[in-house]
Amino acid sequence: AKVNGRKQTCFYNETMSRDLARRREIEAELRSAIQKDELSIFFQPIVDLATGRIRTFEALVRWFHPEKGELRPDEFIPVAEETGLIITLGNWITAQAAKAAAQWPEEVTIAVNLSPLQIKAPGAALGIKNALREAGLHPSRLELEVTESLFVDDNCATETFMEELSDLGVKFALDDFGTGYSSLGYIQKYPFSKIKVDRSFVSGPNVGKKTDAIIHAVAELGSKLDMAIVAEGLETIEQVRTVREAGCTLGQGYYFSRAVPDYLAAMLLAQEDED
Ligand code: C2E
Ligand code: CA
Ligand code: CA
Ligand code: CA
Repeated sequence: AKVNGRKQTCFYNETMSRDLARRREIEAELRSAIQKDELSIFFQPIVDLATGRIRTFEALVRWFHPEKGELRPDEFIPVAEETGLIITLGNWITAQAAKAAAQWPEEVTIAVNLSPLQIKAPGAALGIKNALREAGLHPSRLELEVTESLFVDDNCATETFMEELSDLGVKFALDDFGTGYSSLGYIQKYPFSKIKVDRSFVSGPNVGKKTDAIIHAVAELGSKLDMAIVAEGLETIEQVRTVREAGCTLGQGYYFSRAVPDYLAAMLLAQEDED
């Protein structure tokens, strides 16, 4: 057993150090990626399921690495969080997103993802307010998406941050609902105006009667609490029909559009006005 144990330790150490090396590399490169203009923000529409019109664009960060190619946020956001770079990166993302949104019609809003670390950092609300002011974007046109992981430690900085910004008109969306520590208490305690039902309830191996019932229940909760319910990850017309019939008011997913660069987002909006 001892020998086995040693072998296993050895195996884990190898993968761990390879992982660590990759992370170190990403960390070092991420520091200069912003300056080198390798990062950009893409925009994915969130559509009104009753009218088909675009109501919001979600800002999703992309890194076009000269050698590694396109890196997904799932690969570098965690590194940015571990190293604290997420603060600089996050402020940059919010600023870029706000600038793009300032070009759109007034009724279209922009949704930005925030890591828990960004919210708990000192001066977090100021970073958001600066981005809005510099872009000339009204706070009511900004939505901040947070996940339930924000609430694992009951931090009063979170409450202060959310209250301060929602007093200005900024909206909050509870992202990936159903995947984490879903507690209805968060919905009651914090000023959310939107719930985003995770895509695992819409597509994938677990979808069936049970997930249908859950979507129905969440949609009903939303209508009673005056919250919009977004179904994420809609890829087919059948999925769109299902979530609409269940009572979801908004939808997002490849069925409508992938995340696109800012000029294409503007074109999607211009096209709508022609109809
Ligand atoms: P998320 O906030 O849940 O964003 C939705 C993800 O689902 C995006 O992946 C989007 O491209 C993908 N998606 C949208 N529609 C479909 C669909 O129909 N089918 C499938 N299979 N996927 C779909 P992406 O861009 O790779 O982002 C992954 C995650 O990285 C995001 O999940 C979010 O948690 C994080 N992230 C992205 N951008 C940022 C950012 O600017 N800041 C922070 N803190 N996190 C970000
Ligand atoms: Ca999101
Ligand atoms: Ca999500
Ligand atoms: Ca997610």
